[in-house]
Amino acid sequence: MSDSPRYRFAPSPTGFFHVGGARTALYNWALALRTGGTFVLRIEDTDESRNSPEWTQGIIDALSWLGIDSQSPRFEGPYFQSQNAELHIAAAMKLHAAGKAYWCDLTADQIQERAKTSGKQGYDGYSRDRGLAGGPGHVLRFRVPEGATIVSDLVRGEVEFANDTIEDFVLLRSNGSPMFLLANVVDDIEMRITHVVRAEEHLPNTPKQQMLWEALGATPPIWAHVPVLVNEQRKKLSKRRDKVALEQYREEGILPNAMINYLMTLGWAPAGDTEIVHWSSMVEEFRLEDVNHSPAFFDIKKLSSFNGDYIRAMSLDEFIQAASPVLASTEAWPADRFSAGVFVQAAPLVQTRVVTLSEIPAMVDFLFLENPAIDDDAWNKTMSADFARTVLADFTAAIASAEWNHDSLKGILETWTEANGLKLGKTQAPIRVAITGRTVGPPLFESLEILGREETIRRLTAGIARLG
Ligand code: GLU
Repeated sequence: MSDSPRYRFAPSPTGFFHVGGARTALYNWALALRTGGTFVLRIEDTDESRNSPEWTQGIIDALSWLGIDSQSPRFEGPYFQSQNAELHIAAAMKLHAAGKAYWCDLTADQIQERAKTSGKQGYDGYSRDRGLAGGPGHVLRFRVPEGATIVSDLVRGEVEFANDTIEDFVLLRSNGSPMFLLANVVDDIEMRITHVVRAEEHLPNTPKQQMLWEALGATPPIWAHVPVLVNEQRKKLSKRRDKVALEQYREEGILPNAMINYLMTLGWAPAGDTEIVHWSSMVEEFRLEDVNHSPAFFDIKKLSSFNGDYIRAMSLDEFIQAASPVLASTEAWPADRFSAGVFVQAAPLVQTRVVTLSEIPAMVDFLFLENPAIDDDAWNKTMSADFARTVLADFTAAIASAEWNHDSLKGILETWTEANGLKLGKTQAPIRVAITGRTVGPPLFESLEILGREETIRRLTAGIARLG
């Protein structure tokens, strides 16, 4: 066997796929690709009360959306932790046989009682030398050795933990089931993992896990704990408070490439003066040693701006393709009124003006609705101008026989505007509202050109009538 690096991503399927998990997965994937190593996917599904197959499927779909290709020779898995329970128990028994673990029958209350008396927090190793056998109500505890544990972490440097601050932790619960710490290490050993790259919240577990690797006779992996993601208030992203589900961003029209690029820059920056870089350069350049250890701000505005850049970088065909699922699933207009041919004409106007795909329907709905709803504020604001009625009437009359293209339509309004000593920005507004119902949208004259003479005149006439 070659000794190329083996990375892994080990999510628990207990909820929506978190953007933090997505970043961890991408870091591991980029490293596996660059080093000719392997990315192992292990689903840590041992918490039966919180798991569901639906969340597992969510993980698999999300990884594929992020370009983590399960068909690639660099990809291995998915493995399911719950299928390895026997291995976990066997490892615990091996530690017991070697005197590195022991049974304990103290209840949580008894442990607390002893801690109160001694004034020292946590479990005090009471059963270390009692030689108890396993049995109902007995947990198996790891005998933490004396000394210190030095965790050498590629992101955080060397972190030293005094072993006497670590209690003899539980490996097997009193019902015989393995604890997460044990299962996670035994699987990593079994899967010959060489690099554990994961979220910073697991750092406190690491000295315990490193002791387990050593006690099981294995060489501990290279550790790297990547910084937490925080919100605008610099609080850790939480699913209760913040928008953390990758799925949600996907539904809102964030493009996978923009998301991938943005996630990679949370704690790391590519060389050069732009952060917008192709995936292949990120794979080439990404090094754990360059990952920052301070918390990374998950800035939704910045993500949107990345997305806008990615949208503008698409060819028109790519943009039309990316937009089609959004157009097909929107409720902005009745399905039978949509015309792909009309959208193709409008697409260049829209592509430069949206930052997410989900903004597209509101930009083009006036082309597909018989009578677009007119926003009251927009109406009141624009139609209160003293020239509103005249500009609508004169423009309607003038375009009846005009050449039908945006230059000619613009010329007509420009002439009228100059003659009346006004500004085009002002005189366009009532026309736009009468046509689209809104004060903002794609360029007006191009929009009219696409909408067509007859429909333009019909809406302007309706606008005049509404003015009374
Ligand atoms: N299953 C753990 C989690 O989802 C990951 C543990 C690890 O990466 O070691 O947080």
